[in-house]
Amino acid sequence: MAANWKMNPPDRATALALAHAVATATADTDVDVVLCPPAVWLDAVAATVQDSPIRIGAQNLHASDSGAFTGELSAPMLLGVADYVIVGHSERRRLFGETDADVAAKVGAAVAHGIAPIVAVGESAEERRAGQTDQVISRQVRSALSGLELLAGSGLVVAYEPVWAIGTGDPASGADAQAGAALIRRLLAEHDAAAADATRVLYGGSVAPELASTCFAQPDIDGALVGGASLDAEAFAAIVRAAAR
Ligand code: PEP
Repeated sequence: MAANWKMNPPDRATALALAHAVATATADTDVDVVLCPPAVWLDAVAATVQDSPIRIGAQNLHASDSGAFTGELSAPMLLGVADYVIVGHSERRRLFGETDADVAAKVGAAVAHGIAPIVAVGESAEERRAGQTDQVISRQVRSALSGLELLAGSGLVVAYEPVWAIGTGDPASGADAQAGAALIRRLLAEHDAAAADATRVLYGGSVAPELASTCFAQPDIDGALVGGASLDAEAFAAIVRAAAR
């Protein structure tokens, strides 16, 4: 269960209080929980949850190890702090111009340094209306995998995040979420049949405690990438408990 805090909460004290509250509220489950705070608090959040099984993820990285890339962070810089990194979130693709090729390069960089990429893919509302959902997912997944030899050992996680469901309060139906996740599973199998079943496929898009059970009842959905609801420790913990059930 991955929490994408995005550019929230507004200050360090609130971020550390949230991390502490999540650690407390999820202490009794065996679900793997990853918190992805803003980069400036990665260290502090990691220190706050160090006595819990919670792992830390970054929200982005640059594909190069170092260099003249103002404002960017590299995989080597994340080492020792983040075990995961979100790559290709639709906000990065849409607002910051990330291409499929950028995503592939970032996946390669993360895996090369032992950081597990959580790759987000999914169609926009327009693409859905145009009947292009499968085409978009296939293009994005195949491209993201293009720099990887095998899935095994990569730590790769793929999140199906239909863009129209993100932050709208209008999640995909269980059937639509499953269809996207099943397609991703088939694409993973095309790449590395032996490892596809063991690769985690998440759903993301307005996941809330009330609907979480429907999401987790789907055979190809192993967890969720949670945005808005992850800023409320109790709501996030309720989603984690639904996954545990
Ligand atoms: C996200 O941005 O990855 C996300 C799933 O957001 P939300 O849960 O707020 O829809």
